[in-house]
Amino acid sequence: MKCDFIESPNKVSRTEKITAIIIHYTATLSLQSTLSWFLNPGAKVSAHYVISRDGRVVQMVKDSDVAWHAGKSFFNGRTGVNQFSIGIELSATATSGFTEDQMSSLEQLLLELIRKYEIPITSIVGHQDIAPGRKVDPGSLFDWFRIRKFLTEKNKCADLS
Ligand SMILES: [Zn+2]
Repeated sequence: MKCDFIESPNKVSRTEKITAIIIHYTATLSLQSTLSWFLNPGAKVSAHYVISRDGRVVQMVKDSDVAWHAGKSFFNGRTGVNQFSIGIELSATATSGFTEDQMSSLEQLLLELIRKYEIPITSIVGHQDIAPGRKVDPGSLFDWFRIRKFLTEKNKCADLS
């Protein structure tokens, strides 16, 4: 898929296998303000991908590096979720919802990532799921059903099932 690469300094080398994908919202509708924030070394935050309101995908950290998106977190019996996950940020707020262009770019990106790294659909979760009580994104307006249905249907073999 079409994707721009604007590398953030906020990262370290990855030493663990990628086994999860974490979905976030940025709490701003402006792609530019998120890019600026993730390019600021003082922010100490980043994500692998940011998807704008018009569906543009910007990669800011290589998959082979650890991005700083999860913070204090817990998933599948393990802490430090950044070490074994890919972080995807959607330009949205708690009340804005998500655009069609954005959701369809997210679907394509997730499909490529789960195929490439053999990540189970059940290991695509929200920031709120790995840091409950501390984080609320991507919130109740995020359509998990749509995403899981799309990935389940697309990720089947037509001839081998
Ligand atoms: Zn988040």
